[in-house]
Amino acid sequence: MKVKVNPNVCIGCGACQAVAPDVFEVNDEGVAEAIITDEISMDLVEDATDAKEGCPVNAIYDPEEEEMEEAA
Ligand code: SF4
Repeated sequence: MKVKVNPNVCIGCGACQAVAPDVFEVNDEGVAEAIITDEISMDLVEDATDAKEGCPVNAIYDPEEEEMEEAA
C-alpha cells in the first residue's frame, strides 16, 4: 500500500495526522502530505487505512490503485 494526498481536495482538518502521525503530517501550507512515499510498512498499514477511510473529503488515495484502475 502507498498513500498520497490530493492537495487540491484536502481541507487540512488534521484527522489523518491524528490517526496516523507516522504517515501523514499537515504542512506549513495547512495541507496534509504523506511522510512516507514508498510502500507503507505492515505495522503502519492499519493506521494509514484508517486515515484514508476517515478523511472527510476523500483526499487520500493509493496511487498504485489508481494506476490499476486506469489499466483495467
Ligand atoms: S484527513 Fe483528509 S482533509 Fe483532513 S488533513 Fe488529512 S487529507 Fe486533509
